[in-house]
Amino acid sequence: MSGEPPVFDLFIIGGGINGCGIARDAAGRGLSVLLAEQGDFASATSQWSTKLIHGGLRYLEYYEFRLVAESLREREVLLHAAPHLIQPLEFILPHEPHLRPRWMIAAGMLLYDMLGGKKSLPKSKSVLLADSPLSAGLKPGYTHGFSYYDARADDARLTLANALGAAELGAVLAPRTRFIGAQLQRATPSPNGPEDVWKVILEEAGGKRQEHLARVIVNAAGPWVTHSLRGIAGVTQKAGVKHVRGSHIVVPRLHEGAHAYILQNPDKRIIFIIPYQGAYSLIGTTDIPVDEYVNPRISEDEIAYLCKAASAYTARPVVPADVVWTYSGVRPLYDDGGADASAITRDYVLELNQSAGAPLLNIFGGKLTTYRRLAEHALDKLQACFPRMGQPWTHAKPLPGGDFSGGLDALGAELARTHPYVPPEHLMGMARRHGSGAVKLLAHACGITDLGEYFGAGLYSCEISHMVTDEWAVTAEDVLWRRSKCGLMMSGPERDRVAAYLAEQAARIAESKGA
Ligand SMILES: Cc1cc2nc3c(=O)[nH]c(=O)nc-3n(C[C@H](O)[C@H](O)[C@H](O)COP(=O)(O)OP(=O)(O)OC[C@H]3O[C@@H](n4cnc5c(N)ncnc54)[C@H](O)[C@@H]3O)c2cc1C
Repeated sequence: MSGEPPVFDLFIIGGGINGCGIARDAAGRGLSVLLAEQGDFASATSQWSTKLIHGGLRYLEYYEFRLVAESLREREVLLHAAPHLIQPLEFILPHEPHLRPRWMIAAGMLLYDMLGGKKSLPKSKSVLLADSPLSAGLKPGYTHGFSYYDARADDARLTLANALGAAELGAVLAPRTRFIGAQLQRATPSPNGPEDVWKVILEEAGGKRQEHLARVIVNAAGPWVTHSLRGIAGVTQKAGVKHVRGSHIVVPRLHEGAHAYILQNPDKRIIFIIPYQGAYSLIGTTDIPVDEYVNPRISEDEIAYLCKAASAYTARPVVPADVVWTYSGVRPLYDDGGADASAITRDYVLELNQSAGAPLLNIFGGKLTTYRRLAEHALDKLQACFPRMGQPWTHAKPLPGGDFSGGLDALGAELARTHPYVPPEHLMGMARRHGSGAVKLLAHACGITDLGEYFGAGLYSCEISHMVTDEWAVTAEDVLWRRSKCGLMMSGPERDRVAAYLAEQAARIAESKGA
């Protein structure tokens, strides 16, 4: 035996939705996978989306029929794969004189319905808005509108579910580990005989370096996709990425009812007002081209723009002082040379680059909605490298936690029956986050004290421990803003207590390791 480390089939840069989706799919087809994520899973674009699993009604205006059709088919697949993380959402489009004529919008909606093929969501329809709950919170005077369905998702947990699924299938996942660079290592011994493989250098958060060997590199670094390439010796690369910042604001709930609004502004951009985390409304988004990926933050102009755009429709004006939380992400869009940020393709481009001698697959663009098909297309591209790889399988298998029937409300009701001592809204929160995993989380609980310390917003120490031991959580941000959104509902002191608790746990673990 030589002293060489094992050769992974795939090394993936990036633990966003695309990297984690590819890792899960590949591991399930029998490939050996190593994934490095420089921060936490979903710590970049994949937690800052509008959280929609949607075809993208407005992409029809840009004739992106392939993307819309694929997205609508994916919406159906994902609703079944992760019913705890993805739920149907009705959208109301109030009609206004500056919009296209009603007959034309109705035709667009019909096309949207048809492109999705057979599906379980209700069809789009015209609705009367005068004195209707469907115009709740809007200025009086709207008489006509349209209703159609898409879905909402917990983007960060959807990414995490893919990471968990990949790990269950044997993938090696390394969060807080940065890809530094790679170079070709010729004639490396392997069970298949000598082969040219990548030597990959990684750096852990503490600065320790690791070396690994891999047959193929998949560059799923999102906004850093071209930056990562700089560390790969011998690669020539033409295509680029355009960075487009999108920001959201969260304000106290603007309207009653479960539906969201899709609103078109006179500048032709659309914004959504989406019921969010019970007590809030999520409003977004903007489209601001930016030169480099610098920690994205909303500007005052963006806040003013979103407030103005929403207030044009809402009965109660939205003002900057209402804003309780904001977030911004950077879309890593394939650079097709166009100037209009809203019009750059949202479709993904996969580029297999062999210029350095071993395969490198670069992932440009994409949507949360299409990650699963993107992963299948990525593995199609690598078929020649792995001729014995298994067949596509992810369309038919639920994501971790998604293996329950009867819907989320039934799961919540079952938890309330078996654990009547826990407030039902807390159980529902756990069901939303963990799906069938909530049953396992509470399996040993017989009374409220078995859930451990209570931190507020439905979060108990038993769930935090689960996030730390089984979901790679380390910091309060990992727990409060990615694996849950409890941070939004908590007071400052409550959030501080979570951070202190995590520090106490980390110290206890370090002490037990040292002992
Ligand atoms: C404002 C906004 C709204 C959106 N809304 C929607 C929506 O409603 N629906 C929808 O379908 N899509 C939406 N999208 C698009 C969607 O969010 C993105 O397409 C998707 O999240 C991109 O995922 P990704 O994995 O490619 O990138 P990312 O999530 O950015 O993941 C890339 C990862 O690579 C890691 N990384 C980078 N360099 C290194 C390195 N050297 N070493 C190790 N790790 C590294 C990063 O830390 C990061 O976690 C939206 C995007 C934005 C910005």
